[in-house]
Amino acid sequence: MLSLVEKLYETHDLTDEELINLIKSEDSEVSEFLREKADETRQKYYGKKVFLRGLIEISSFCKNNCLYCGIRRDNKNAERYRLSREDILSCCENGYELGFRTFVMQGGEDAYYNDEFMCGIIREIKNKYPDCAVTLSLGERSNQSYKRMKEAGADRYLLRHETADVELYKKLHPNNMSLENRKKCLFNLKKLGYQVGAGFMVGAPFQTVENLVSDLRFMQHLQPQMIGIGPFIPHHDTPFKDEKQGTLELTLRLLGIIRLMFPKILLPATTALGTISPTGREMGLKTGCNVIMPNLSPVKFRKKYELYDNKICTGEEAAECKGCLQRRVQSAGYEIVSEKGDCIY
Ligand code: SAM
Repeated sequence: MLSLVEKLYETHDLTDEELINLIKSEDSEVSEFLREKADETRQKYYGKKVFLRGLIEISSFCKNNCLYCGIRRDNKNAERYRLSREDILSCCENGYELGFRTFVMQGGEDAYYNDEFMCGIIREIKNKYPDCAVTLSLGERSNQSYKRMKEAGADRYLLRHETADVELYKKLHPNNMSLENRKKCLFNLKKLGYQVGAGFMVGAPFQTVENLVSDLRFMQHLQPQMIGIGPFIPHHDTPFKDEKQGTLELTLRLLGIIRLMFPKILLPATTALGTISPTGREMGLKTGCNVIMPNLSPVKFRKKYELYDNKICTGEEAAECKGCLQRRVQSAGYEIVSEKGDCIY
């Protein structure tokens, strides 16, 4: 099995069967060797740098009903909120002072944030902070809408494909949503010149190792600039409330594999990873991750953007969050930098 890690490190690919064996292996020696090689690869391209993305959760309203998500439309217990233009700008101001050079506006699919609103706020942020990147994560929209927002100045778009397997996609989403459209959106975004982030949840209900291999293959095809993966964590008010959460071991295993398959990728150590283990993000950083996405949303709204149970960092101000992360990143042996942090290809 160690030779598989060696092969992946050297050739950036394995056969399906080899990938399945590597993902399934529970040998701790393999995990440690994979971690070392992943870390060596990230350091070769990005040194010890950790890029920050300031996450602004603009809306907890969503028209979709994804079975795993705490802000799904049918969750009547979810508290809904929307950030105003002023709220968003104040998050950016705060973030800029703290050294953030990327702002990510993320939310449920909420028609309130139409193209006019989004283009206006994107222009305003780019005018005020020309040295910053604007990232959007607003779900599936028309090509026209993506085009307008790109022309207004948006640089990047995060849209996890969630799973590249049609059958699994159907088990995780209602009938009115399709993998085909999700993939189409990702290819549209790439064509428009966005730096794109795809990704999936690890340990989602019904997910098999073969499904994970399909995810890796899909991303080899798409060639995104960022890959966001984190463990699935149940939310108590969703149909998946009694499902098992994804494990730390499997998430780290996949992070290591992804770093070796996509050596120059931007790879976040996600909040979900920090939620299932107190040192999850540090372990992610040591296994090839080079991005962290701290929360810049106003504290009074944070608990309302509850995608899954026990989400961390919902109680502190952005400055406290940054201080805490700085210590964590340093303790893991890396350094937070105040840069836009573009992908190097
Ligand atoms: N609406 C946008 C979209 O669809 O891309 C952005 C917001 S969506 C809530 C952001 C991501 O949260 C999803 O892509 C999904 O992978 C993740 N997520 C939702 N529920 C989750 C859960 N229970 N556990 C872990 N991640 C979850």
